[in-house]
Amino acid sequence: PRILAIESTCDETAAAVVEDGWRVLSNVVATQIDLHAKYRGVVPEIACRAHIENILPVIQEAIAHGQVAPATGSGVSQPMAPEVGLTESRASASDSSFILPPSSFDFDAVAVAHRPGLVGSLLIGVTAAKTLAWSLGKPLIGVDHVHAHLYSVVLEKNEHPPMPAIGLVCSGGHTALYLVKSWTDVTLIGSTIDDAVGEAYDKVAAILGLGYPGGPHIDRLAATGDPKAIAFPRPLLGPGSLDFSFSGLKTAVLYAVRGVPTKDGPHIRDERHQPPAPTGQRLADVCASFQQACVDVIVKKLKRAAEKYGAKSILIGGGVSANRGLRAALQGGGTASTSGGTVVSPVLRLPVYFPPLKYCTDNAAMSGGLAHVYFEQRRFSELSLDAITFSQFAR
Ligand code: ATP
Ligand code: MG
Ligand code: FE
Repeated sequence: PRILAIESTCDETAAAVVEDGWRVLSNVVATQIDLHAKYRGVVPEIACRAHIENILPVIQEAIAHGQVAPATGSGVSQPMAPEVGLTESRASASDSSFILPPSSFDFDAVAVAHRPGLVGSLLIGVTAAKTLAWSLGKPLIGVDHVHAHLYSVVLEKNEHPPMPAIGLVCSGGHTALYLVKSWTDVTLIGSTIDDAVGEAYDKVAAILGLGYPGGPHIDRLAATGDPKAIAFPRPLLGPGSLDFSFSGLKTAVLYAVRGVPTKDGPHIRDERHQPPAPTGQRLADVCASFQQACVDVIVKKLKRAAEKYGAKSILIGGGVSANRGLRAALQGGGTASTSGGTVVSPVLRLPVYFPPLKYCTDNAAMSGGLAHVYFEQRRFSELSLDAITFSQFAR
């Protein structure tokens, strides 16, 4: 089966066509990074408006590029679709007329990530998906965006991890551990009590005067820094805890860079007394030391969770799963694989699955893949499917 999937949970408008749960026939992502960069974070109102402008051209582009002849049953995989519109090209927003898919484009269901996210953002994708499903008479499949991040490790490789697995979703909005017994049985077992790790990356980047989003900048600079230069805290929250905390680490970076405020000393908020942001080797050392602290905490928590639940594998998804320090730490060697797939981690002694880099940050292909599992189980959604926000979402 071939599934058209739609994603609009946060600040990426995306659509994809995915066949049999892993063959990505098209993957279109219109990112809004440039719209939110000056605010150093996603502004919900701006995100919602941009989704409205982008949704139809993005879906049309996904359909146009997803019209690949079906595989001929020989088991030979067909060439992957070229990456379309990924980050650099924003789909043309001026084209407001929507042309229905040509009859040559046949697909079996419409999937949409309907939770969790920003309500205004979610509603655009959910409404588009319902409208397409209803007007074309196709089944609708609502999927959980976070579960889809975990499923992203299957894309292109079609290698399903042995379960139960421990899943880690680490992104700008999430840092959470899941017990994955099957793709439809996913339970939250730990999460951040304050900042998400990607959020900490973005805030530390702001402290250091680096661009937004901060993750890729810090990752790049960390490669030439000394991870032992500064002993940042590794918050583990008690011996058995599977929760995370990154806000203290972020503050530790602030103090390392600007000095600790004292009763008489310069206050960090006083611009006149602020030391200049570090540059050169010192900047690289701060980045490497911060990154190492994040990686150490994540590895430790994965180990705890894997032991507690007798996991047979580890799945890592979300924007921070692109991080080279994290990949290298879990994959053992000095160099990080970026192609996705599995490596047996010497630290965890378990196979660790990462998605290919282009499926780390938000995309619709991962939802199209997960929706295939629902399709096979005939778990369809009603047209009354709701958008479910972060706060409504008791997990
Ligand atoms: P959600 O949490 O709902 O998935 P999001 O849009 O914040 O939302 P993603 O698009 O998956 O999540 O990830 C974006 C985050 O990933 C940003 O915080 C960014 O800094 C971080 N990130 C991206 N690349 C890297 C990297 N190489 N190293 C560390 N962090 C990274
Ligand atoms: Mg994003
Ligand atoms: Fe996401």
